[in-house]
Amino acid sequence: MHNNSYLELDAKAYKINIDFLRKHFQKGVLFSSVVKGNAYGHSIEKFVGIALEENVKHFSVFDSQEARRVHAVTGNKATVMIMGWLNNEEDLEWIIQNQVEFFAFERARLTAALAVAKKLGKKAIVHIEVETGMNRTGFNAADLRWVQDFLQKNKDFIEFKGLCTHFAGAESIANYYRIKKQIERYDEIYKQFCAKDLKPKQRHAACSAAAMMYPETQMDMVRIGIMQYGYWPSPEVLVNYYNTKRKKEDPLKRLISWKSSVMSVKKVKRGEFVGYGTSFMADENMKICCVPVGYAHGYSRSLSNIGRVLINGERCVVIGSINMNMMVVEVTFLENIKRGDEVVLIGTQADKVLSVSSFSDYANLLNYELLTRLSADIPRIIKR
Ligand SMILES: *Cc1c(COP(=O)(O)O)cnc(C)c1O
Repeated sequence: MHNNSYLELDAKAYKINIDFLRKHFQKGVLFSSVVKGNAYGHSIEKFVGIALEENVKHFSVFDSQEARRVHAVTGNKATVMIMGWLNNEEDLEWIIQNQVEFFAFERARLTAALAVAKKLGKKAIVHIEVETGMNRTGFNAADLRWVQDFLQKNKDFIEFKGLCTHFAGAESIANYYRIKKQIERYDEIYKQFCAKDLKPKQRHAACSAAAMMYPETQMDMVRIGIMQYGYWPSPEVLVNYYNTKRKKEDPLKRLISWKSSVMSVKKVKRGEFVGYGTSFMADENMKICCVPVGYAHGYSRSLSNIGRVLINGERCVVIGSINMNMMVVEVTFLENIKRGDEVVLIGTQADKVLSVSSFSDYANLLNYELLTRLSADIPRIIKR
């Protein structure tokens, strides 16, 4: 192994996930693959390539930079949609030229898009995002009249492709009432647009959790992030799914494994501290090894003294604090351990599994955060 660690992406696991999701969703619902955050840490370039092979035709990103990266891989083979940030002055020309679609939740973005569309003689393809109760982005009720007039007046330059919103925590039953209100509010707004002879081609609102917990939110398109990578948005969503099935078997499979190798092995005497400071003292004579992965690579410092790794088919404990580029692991009971042995940080070894979820339980982090923290510098290798 040349690198201190690498990430393996299992293309077969993706096929399993996408097949399950497509079958589970209502017929005719378009699947948009959400690849923001460097495809949840998987690498936009590598992941989009895998998704294209499974005939995914629609990708959602957060910003224009991600859109450019996706577009460089897909060319005209797929639609790219920006859900968040773009720069009105610097990005719109490229966006409209390449028929990249984007959310609009402010007047300024629409007027800027209109000017660029006129200049290029090409339509801007917009998704009007409306406020339904999350209170993040989205046009407020007071703006809707203006938006409707604008769309009507500028039909030649602005294509009203979508009407959309986003839910404030569909993965938790605690938010049930708020989400239901959002669904109602969205329907009212949709009818209001239709009454003005403005019928969007696509109605969309659902992320993974909403699509699973509130099937009525699937509408014309679902924007699926976390589940396509093999993770449930929350344990509640998984339990909710199990409650509808006789076979309690997780249909999703994780794509990512994170592997490194033992850098060095040595002995430490009872009573000695290990690593910086005094967070870990050896309470017996022990054997330790160093693994060349640290917080600079995305292995959270909050896993100090609690992280687990797999070596020689056994679960081992991280001791002391996670350093910038390495960690120390106790391996007293591994008789044959030597430099170069495989270390699994996420994934399987022999019959043992270490999931991002289980290691995020220790660190009290969400899968989302842990995945996106994986450094972009770690090589990603596709396993077929
Ligand atoms: C991230 C995101 C999604 C996807 O969410 P998942 O929970 O990963 O499925 C959908 N819509 C918007 C607006 C998002 O920001």
